[in-house]
Amino acid sequence: MPTDLSPVDGALSDALAAERSRQRETLSLIASENHASEAVLAAQGSVLTNKYAEGDPGDRYYGGCEHADTVERLARERARELFGADHANVQPHSGTQANLAAYQALLDSGDTILSLSMSHGGHLSHGQPYTMVDEHFEVSHYGVDEATGRLDYDAVEARAEAVDPDLIVSGYSAYPRQVDWERVQTVADAVDAYHVADIAHLTGLLAADVHPSPVGIADLVTGSTHKTIRSGRGGMVLCDEALADAVDTAVMPGCQGGPLMHNVAGKAAGFAEALTPEFELYARQIVDNATALADRLGERGFELVSGGTDVHFVLVDLRETHPDLTGERAEAALESVGLVANKQTVPGDHRSATVGSGLRIGTPAVTTRGFDATATERLADAVADVLDAPDDEAVANEVAETVADLCSRFPVYGDTTAASV
Ligand SMILES: *Cc1c(COP(=O)(O)O)cnc(C)c1O
Repeated sequence: MPTDLSPVDGALSDALAAERSRQRETLSLIASENHASEAVLAAQGSVLTNKYAEGDPGDRYYGGCEHADTVERLARERARELFGADHANVQPHSGTQANLAAYQALLDSGDTILSLSMSHGGHLSHGQPYTMVDEHFEVSHYGVDEATGRLDYDAVEARAEAVDPDLIVSGYSAYPRQVDWERVQTVADAVDAYHVADIAHLTGLLAADVHPSPVGIADLVTGSTHKTIRSGRGGMVLCDEALADAVDTAVMPGCQGGPLMHNVAGKAAGFAEALTPEFELYARQIVDNATALADRLGERGFELVSGGTDVHFVLVDLRETHPDLTGERAEAALESVGLVANKQTVPGDHRSATVGSGLRIGTPAVTTRGFDATATERLADAVADVLDAPDDEAVANEVAETVADLCSRFPVYGDTTAASV
């Protein structure tokens, strides 16, 4: 039901149209981004934005919820089927909110959380400084092995024994390898701690069985719903029946008021798409493309954290090969030719998070546009050309043409998309 905003609000309409053009004419290589379908956009831009629905389906604090109930039940049932979980709470406004609810459900103020440090690939919501998590809990970190870029689970266990945490967080923002959830669970068991597995980045890969799942292993599984799974923007918590009530109460009233029912509708729409065989092919192609990207960048002489990838992105470590090029500068040079990626610290980085010596390059969004391995190799060469000569105007012009060609061969959103409203 998209309507034209332009007669009503020109300034807003222009900004949204400009953003639609930006998404069509550049390539998003941000590992946490994707392009949601027209169905998801329509669900999110629906009249459900008007509805208060505090509570659970069939048990609300407001009247008029029968259709909101149907929508939320669809989202819950589809999430349970996708991830094989007993219970799914689809109300968290974001992945961060899902993590806050997980801590609220399992911990008391002052308890100790053990999580991966952010400079090694952890997330803000795992207790970094300046967050409420850090303020209300004792937070300690483990790291990856700086020589291999991989988790050394024996070292994580030793760290857990030293810290004696109440809760261990696994699941990360910038860890390019498979996570051994069972091994983390043995660490949690050894120190009698809860285990929260945060699948924010991995939702789509897990839904398609392209990466092993922590459901049924960890106590709680949290995630974002708009990353690899490309459903409506938000978060979710998955658990078994024993923790269902604690989770629901932790989400509302623990951390939130009324759920964003239009986003819950977007989750339902995206989860339905993720249950199709086409989605499984899509998720496989995301990883195949990331592997093609890793291989080609390796041939071009780049160093990758951990030497490659098992997932949907690569993490380029510029320190040895391009010592004068910071992640910040690399990000700006790429953006100037329409390649939108993000700077990142790499394990052992001497630069700060706002500068960084690394670059995270993801394939979920370009794979949604239809990229195959051949197109991804062209993309890898374009990235490598820019990083090898970030100040060369001739190279920039040539790469900008390649990007324009790739965008027109692999289009996203037509002129009449709901994204145009
Ligand atoms: C993206 C992310 C989140 C949540 O992000 P939101 O922006 O709050 O949805 C949580 N954990 C990890 C590991 C993430 O990468």
